[in-house]
Amino acid sequence: MKIICIGRNYVKHAQELQHDVPTEPVFFMKPDSALLLDNKPFFLPDFSKEIHHEIELVIKISRLGKNIEAKFAHRYYDEIGLGIDFTARDIQRQLIEKGLPWEKAKAFDASAVLGRFIPKEELGDLGQILFSLKRNGAVVQSGDSQFMIFSFDTIIEHVSKFVTLKIGDLIYTGTPAGVGPVAIDDRLEGYIGEKKMFDIQVK
Ligand code: MG
Repeated sequence: MKIICIGRNYVKHAQELQHDVPTEPVFFMKPDSALLLDNKPFFLPDFSKEIHHEIELVIKISRLGKNIEAKFAHRYYDEIGLGIDFTARDIQRQLIEKGLPWEKAKAFDASAVLGRFIPKEELGDLGQILFSLKRNGAVVQSGDSQFMIFSFDTIIEHVSKFVTLKIGDLIYTGTPAGVGPVAIDDRLEGYIGEKKMFDIQVK
């Protein structure tokens, strides 16, 4: 399986990092070795001094597809989950300055936290999913899928032009504003609405 991540999908987040608002989805990938499952602790890597949390809604692909039209894209996923796209911001900044690929900043081990999933029917309107991240009990990021620049279905249409989507693939759909650093002993809890989706410790 593969992990596809959408960058800059919320206007306020693009602005906080001083990026232009994209006119088509920006995506990059993480390997399967990036997954951090089952509320396992996240160990801060020694190659970065600035690991940022990015809370993101996650689509789990349930059907093989290529060149999927947006109007049919809803048939390719049954569940939505929540995760963190951990980012070595200091390294990412250097890579962006040099025009180099982002993998060192984005694809490292345990950089893709993944919590549980909720069936679409239970979520109701997918255009209004509220989600949040608490750091040590205080909300540091809160998002609403209505503020995504590119919807789930538009993302699937765009990505599947380039990359065949397979069952079990994950798409991290971008983070809202409020990204920031994590530190040793932090507790990070992710929520969709009132439902706790993951609860991890930083070590
Ligand atoms: Mg992200």
